[in-house]
Amino acid sequence: MKMEWKKKDILLIIVIFAVAFLAYYLHEMIGTKGAGSVTVKVNGVIEGSYSLGEDQEIEINGGTNRLIIKNGKADMEAADCPDKLCVNQKAVSKNGESIICLPNKVIVEVESSENGEFDAVTN
Ligand SMILES: [Zn+2]
Repeated sequence: MKMEWKKKDILLIIVIFAVAFLAYYLHEMIGTKGAGSVTVKVNGVIEGSYSLGEDQEIEINGGTNRLIIKNGKADMEAADCPDKLCVNQKAVSKNGESIICLPNKVIVEVESSENGEFDAVTN
């Protein structure tokens, strides 16, 4: 009985380690690509989360704002708001950076493992 328990324990530990390693490995792979993600919120409600590692165009809030993700950066390409402050904001890519469109209550927030280390490569 005792032996059997130990075998199970060892197996369990191996499984936990394998899963942890895999998760770490995947995280590292994504991390080295510099790909975080952006969370899009409209009126405080999360509308979606998108990878910065994938070039794409996102229609926000039924099309009032259009976000472009290119080369690992998110940029508000177009908006129907009167002030266009969000469009004029520079592209975001670093953890904690955000683009806010006050009139449309749109917030685009970056979540990334990178903490501004790539500042020097900004062109
Ligand atoms: Zn705006």
